[in-house]
Amino acid sequence: MKIQRDDIWLLSRLDYLWSRYFINTPQNNKVFIKFGRFAKFRLGSIKLDKKSKSSFITITGMFKNPKIPMAVIDCTIAHELTHYSHGFSSPHPKMHKYPHEGGVVKREMQSRGMGHLLKAYRDWIKEYRKEFR
Ligand SMILES: [Zn+2]
Repeated sequence: MKIQRDDIWLLSRLDYLWSRYFINTPQNNKVFIKFGRFAKFRLGSIKLDKKSKSSFITITGMFKNPKIPMAVIDCTIAHELTHYSHGFSSPHPKMHKYPHEGGVVKREMQSRGMGHLLKAYRDWIKEYRKEFR
């Protein structure tokens, strides 16, 4: 059976990544994840809805394409989860002034054992960028 990349599949990736790499990051609010529009450059984002106090992760609709390696999508989700763990768009205390201060996301992902995801992302983005030259 072919696995369809829909919002339920995204949620299963989020659950997997959270339980494997973010076990020490408690989930203090509701966290939603969904595919957004087909964005070529903004691959992922996380937002906190002030009213509902829920976090919303959006992943580019481009990643529904089965040709995109799963590790690239995992890397994108884990990037947003790292922001969550650092207190950006989440109820956790803010650990930095800016979400990407001094490469904190990359460093955090490396220290949590996700170096392989970063590498898969690097390899993919290198080829992907060639399409825009
Ligand atoms: Zn980011």
